[in-house]
Amino acid sequence: MEKIYDVAVIGMGPVGAVLTALLGTYQLDVITIEKDPNVFPLPRAAHIDHTGLRTIQEIGCLDKVLDKVIRNTRLDLLNANLELLARIPASQRSVSGLPTSVYFYQPDFDRILRDAATRFPSVTVRTNVCMTAIAQHLGQDLVTLNVVNESGADETIKARWVVGCDGARSPTRELCGITLSSLNFDEQWLVIDLKVDVEKYQLPADHVIEICDPKRPYLTTPISKDRQRFEFMLLDGEDHATMLKKETIVELLAKWIPDQAYTIDRAAVYTFHGVVADEWRKDRVLIAGDAAHQTPPFLGQGMCAGIRDAANLAWKLDRVIREKSSDAILDTYQSERAPHAIKVIEAAIRIGKVICELDSERAAQRDRLLRASDKGSQASLLFSLPLLEEGPLVRKGGGNLFVQPRLDGQYLDDIVGSRFLIVVKSEAALGRSAAWWQSEMDAYIAMAPQLQSPELERWFKQNPCEVVVVRPDRYVLGTADSLDTLTDEVKGLLTGKTVTA
Ligand SMILES: Cc1cc2nc3c(=O)[nH]c(=O)nc-3n(C[C@H](O)[C@H](O)[C@H](O)COP(=O)(O)OP(=O)(O)OC[C@H]3O[C@@H](n4cnc5c(N)ncnc54)[C@H](O)[C@@H]3O)c2cc1C
Repeated sequence: MEKIYDVAVIGMGPVGAVLTALLGTYQLDVITIEKDPNVFPLPRAAHIDHTGLRTIQEIGCLDKVLDKVIRNTRLDLLNANLELLARIPASQRSVSGLPTSVYFYQPDFDRILRDAATRFPSVTVRTNVCMTAIAQHLGQDLVTLNVVNESGADETIKARWVVGCDGARSPTRELCGITLSSLNFDEQWLVIDLKVDVEKYQLPADHVIEICDPKRPYLTTPISKDRQRFEFMLLDGEDHATMLKKETIVELLAKWIPDQAYTIDRAAVYTFHGVVADEWRKDRVLIAGDAAHQTPPFLGQGMCAGIRDAANLAWKLDRVIREKSSDAILDTYQSERAPHAIKVIEAAIRIGKVICELDSERAAQRDRLLRASDKGSQASLLFSLPLLEEGPLVRKGGGNLFVQPRLDGQYLDDIVGSRFLIVVKSEAALGRSAAWWQSEMDAYIAMAPQLQSPELERWFKQNPCEVVVVRPDRYVLGTADSLDTLTDEVKGLLTGKTVTA
């Protein structure tokens, strides 16, 4: 009999690789297919925040990733004369106990993620395999994929669930007839990656600078110790071919590297979009990452948002596949992730609009306000990750990422594993539902006083409550004075049946 996988993941960019590895931690039977034989040889993403790093920690390759990164210190906005207009620090402590954000070289990073995903015995990874069609057989709880396999032959793959992590042009999204809505930002930018002596040319080695020059806005970001990226906005009427000419690139970079002592790894024109898919689930097919949303890269959040999709989806798929929850739980994937992704995209567009001002008078006014630390102008630059909005699995006090203290030198997430965490201030707050959380939900229950963590004590001071329930994706489900209150609110959806504790 032909094998039926629990999940087929289409695409092994960073989001597909992370999702595969997360599903592997749950020991699900997963097949991941990728049309290209090897990881994409050039970087796109260069920046990852602590939320992404925390998921990387969960799939067991944090040390390997951190080994090769540059810690981000800040984002500076400069005027055309390279004078500082505003500074957004990034060196503060993150709630995850990890660096707030770092720069990395994506081909190395992707290889680490692929290795992490491939090591799970229940995971099958097949590269050089291209998905060409999807058919849902709802009566049989089955999806079939037509693929062109490694030998160029047609083949069928069967799975209970399919997740399309197949990028901005997502064939999965197209084949399912899912439309995209625009958030009204479509600008063309020339992206140039260089191999260069970063120190010699005093390029920003540990931060991004965005140059708000109304004649041509541009930015530069580190990628690795000897690699730097420049991005220049295209102006009206400029065509790709001219912009990609060597002499154009030399001229654009002359202010920074006048002697042309660099190797161009890649130069390409991208349209920076703000778009979001109207549906993230069609019956047994879901989409994640760039397939579901795309952002202009001014905050370096596109891939980070995709990794957050994977973290949100993995534990829910696990519950559904093991028949612990009904598939209604999967509807919370879009209802939680889409508003969050949209808020992040809107913040990137807001910053993009500040940088992309081409009217010289309005740009001069912006510069004056920013230099005078005008509160309104500064506020348009502020960015902090939004909370998940309140919903069936995000209750009162929930929606934020929980703290991750180290306990006896070990990260809290590593102690808990990929499951629910309940922290109570006293045994009384456990009420009648603790046994249910332990037996049905395999939750990790901890008494705050016994953990002796100043960070947890601080958290409880800032979030007055007796109990906090943290989901496997590390987001707070909710807080309450008694665990029973939260249990009554979420038990029905978590188990697929409404039963009293
Ligand atoms: C210039 C630029 C800078 C950026 N900087 C950042 C940054 O600093 N930080 C950040 O977080 N994000 C950044 N981004 C965004 C980031 O690159 C994307 O969000 C991220 O790559 C999306 O990952 P993904 O896995 O969803 O899609 P992709 O990386 O596009 O992967 C999709 C995979 O699916 C495969 N595939 C497609 N079709 C099929 C098929 N039919 N069958 C099998 N496989 C298929 C493809 O080969 C590919 O490997 C940047 C983007 C750009 C363009």
